[in-house]
Amino acid sequence: MKKKYLLLFILYSITSTLSAQILAPAQGGEHIFETTSCISDSERNKVELQLQKNILQLKGEGILNDELLKNAVVSFDWPLRKTANLDFNSYYAISNYVDQDQSNGLLDYNCDARTYNGHKGTDIFSWPFSWYMYDNDLVEIIAAAPGTIVAKNEGEFDQQCALDNTATANYVVVQHSDGSLAYYLHMKQGSVTTKALGQTVAVGEYLGVIASSGYSNGPHLHFEVRDNLGNIIDPYQGGCNSLNTQTWWTAQQPNRVPTLNTLLTHSAPPVIDCPAANESPNLSDCFSANDTVYLALYFRDETSGAATNLRIRRPDNSIWANWTHNSNNTYNSSYWYWPAPLPAGGPYGVWKFEADFDGQTYVREFTYHDGTTPNCLSCASVDLSITFDGAPTQTSWEITDAAGGTVASSGGNVYGAGSANSNLGLPDISCLPDGCYDLTFFDAGNDGMCPRRTTTVLTGINIATLGLGGVFNGTPRLAQTCGDYTLTDANGTVLASGGGRFGTSETSNFCISGGIAALVQPNNDWNVKSNNKVIDLQILPNLVVDEMTVIYSLEEMVDAELHIIDINGKTLQQHTQNAGGTQEIRLSVNELASGFYFLQLVSGNTIVTKKFVKQ
Ligand SMILES: [Zn+2]
Repeated sequence: MKKKYLLLFILYSITSTLSAQILAPAQGGEHIFETTSCISDSERNKVELQLQKNILQLKGEGILNDELLKNAVVSFDWPLRKTANLDFNSYYAISNYVDQDQSNGLLDYNCDARTYNGHKGTDIFSWPFSWYMYDNDLVEIIAAAPGTIVAKNEGEFDQQCALDNTATANYVVVQHSDGSLAYYLHMKQGSVTTKALGQTVAVGEYLGVIASSGYSNGPHLHFEVRDNLGNIIDPYQGGCNSLNTQTWWTAQQPNRVPTLNTLLTHSAPPVIDCPAANESPNLSDCFSANDTVYLALYFRDETSGAATNLRIRRPDNSIWANWTHNSNNTYNSSYWYWPAPLPAGGPYGVWKFEADFDGQTYVREFTYHDGTTPNCLSCASVDLSITFDGAPTQTSWEITDAAGGTVASSGGNVYGAGSANSNLGLPDISCLPDGCYDLTFFDAGNDGMCPRRTTTVLTGINIATLGLGGVFNGTPRLAQTCGDYTLTDANGTVLASGGGRFGTSETSNFCISGGIAALVQPNNDWNVKSNNKVIDLQILPNLVVDEMTVIYSLEEMVDAELHIIDINGKTLQQHTQNAGGTQEIRLSVNELASGFYFLQLVSGNTIVTKKFVKQ
């Protein structure tokens, strides 16, 4: 991967007195995804041999059947998707189409030269910050059409930057119902679908994560199509496609689709490089007094003559600066950025960076603060719901932070008797900053959230004990149920829950990171089970020195993850446990500094957190 900077004019800062004008970006330019080979001849031979062998074998097993292949029509959906964690508008650009020129010339289906000599597929690269997206598994390769897996490879190094023609890709090849093949190459190590050879995939089904394994110089998908006779197919229909007469896309996109992939704010100039370690997105949405915000645009197919109107809004929505970016050229991918020193003295609060492009307005918010409050920690809106027992007047609660400060509470015993046995949806707590907390429920009657025990024995019946109902002084008494409570984040993930007969008080720990429950995104073959019940989670000993023993039991036999989290909600260790049921494992914590930590058990969307002390 290589990039070219166009230094346009001199560094030009945005000032507070700008009116609408054309303002040259300080820096940026075309980003070139290098146009060279992406499958070596030796790798191609290996794949072909594997394919021939596998297809013969699968035919022998009756899994593939030529009789079923007749007259089927295949059409492709887009072979990539972003995951829910990526908030970019779009996430890719196209560097190379199929080379239609059999000699040494370059010719793509659209009669341009957006290809390299002898290219047999379509190269789609993730953009911008392909290594950031790679690190966080933000772009997935999915089946463009349903079919049967006829070849796959896994376990190869996936951070290639310099072209190495001895390297092998992680890949999947799918055969469709008409006998045609789709090759999906350059996947991330460890990400290739766990489905076996001969298993079928549906359209849109996960195949892997975009990366740079094999003969590759940056994260991209090489998508190659062969018909049932092995002929190269160019899925794009166009004036210079001499390989096939019709598009193979369900809905073929235009040759260029001018797209503002994203607008971002940075704490320093963004650095786009290879490999991952050398890329510096410098992403930030948090700035304090005297900081400079770098406002950046990232385009796919930016087209000469296109105009983008840009604005910065103060917290009161008034416009602080506005200007226009004019595109002077056409690029497969490009980016531009402007430094803006924020005004001394504020106003502080949430600012907006806005861009009008192609009839749409895109907005990126950033916080400008005075260095003290409010800080820019992200925060979570949480919701507490309580089902009371028969004595709501005894119930109170509080949420305390890691320093013991109360951040939210019922304000004492405030619930009237009328709340009995009703669900009380408490107002959302709108912003709990990232960190770890204790939720404590108190019962003034020392019997938890259950009806009062009584030892009174009348008429020979021990009545009302355990709230089971019965007869009290000859009067029938209704059975009463215990109360409970649940604290959830905005996604509905349970942060803490409890209730029942806990005595005087009951404390649950929970952590918030990035404005949601501190939950690490499960990987793709995660066996998700909603609301798996954690029956038990124990840490031994409570004062941990070098190693701790964790014992847990799950209601369902499914995967679980254990995280060690600091008091700021940051995950320090993550352990995947590919087994449910009762487990006992030992975790080393000797590298942790002395202090409070939290152990979190995540299974499906259930999280249980326990505090421990490292000596
Ligand atoms: Zn390619």
